[in-house]
Amino acid sequence: MFKLEGRVALVTGGSRGIGRACCEALAAQGATVVVNYAKGEDKAREVADAIVKAGGKAEIAGFDVSDTKATEAAIEEIAKRHGRLDVLVANAGIAIDGLLLRLKEEDLARLFDVNVRGAIVCARAATRPMMKAKWGRVIFLSSVVGEMGNVGQTAYAATKAALLGVTKSIAREYASRNITVNAVAPGYIDTDMTSNITDAMKEQLAKLIPLGRTGSAKDVAAACAYLASEEAGYVTGQVLRVNGGMYV
Ligand code: NAP
Repeated sequence: MFKLEGRVALVTGGSRGIGRACCEALAAQGATVVVNYAKGEDKAREVADAIVKAGGKAEIAGFDVSDTKATEAAIEEIAKRHGRLDVLVANAGIAIDGLLLRLKEEDLARLFDVNVRGAIVCARAATRPMMKAKWGRVIFLSSVVGEMGNVGQTAYAATKAALLGVTKSIAREYASRNITVNAVAPGYIDTDMTSNITDAMKEQLAKLIPLGRTGSAKDVAAACAYLASEEAGYVTGQVLRVNGGMYV
């Protein structure tokens, strides 16, 4: 499909779900993929092993994106070792749901720390080598609820809406360096994050989705793979919605 041979891509939260599918999609295009994880080293290793078994190139890197020092040091080391870092998929994210009246201060802080501050810190560090190379791709994982809102997701939706402002600002800031910056906004995707949704709830949900089904991690990864590609070089500051038509 799209070509990424010779490129190095970092996918934060690449050990599971959408991140894992992104790692596999980018590796299939020829990129060397760095699979980041916070806690799931075994899962990350599984992803890298599967990629290598399929003939691709992958390695793992453990760091918590909310730990600025560790994140900056890890990204600097990756870029130094490979002599480049071309693609960042800022995918690492958490969801803590609950009605506003019950929203805890520490949950509010943690959501912003991981989903927003973590993504910005990754972008700040990853765009250094991209600026030098005058080529780069940054992709943030937003969400349909960042645009639509959702009952019980005030804080999570706020973090995902924030990433749209982040995307558009960095896109403007780095356009002259040939670095494109886009957001992918998935709808309801079958991963661990949404595993608390029962089959009955899924059936109800499907009625609200014109394409009649929830999405797969591969559906989202295909969008990320496109935005990471050479061919998407004239697309920047955009939000690519992968939501089955749920929000148009
Ligand atoms: P998931 O299955 O829960 O996986 C989350 C991934 O993020 C894991 O690899 C996890 O690694 C990593 N992670 C969590 N906290 C981290 C941290 N502090 N530092 C580094 N890595 C961290 O989630 P998902 O459903 O694939 O979602 C991926 C992204 O898409 C998220 O940003 C999410 O908000 C967004 N999204 C998801 C949906 C959906 O329906 N699933 C919809 C819209 C948007 P460890 O296991 O090592 O902790």
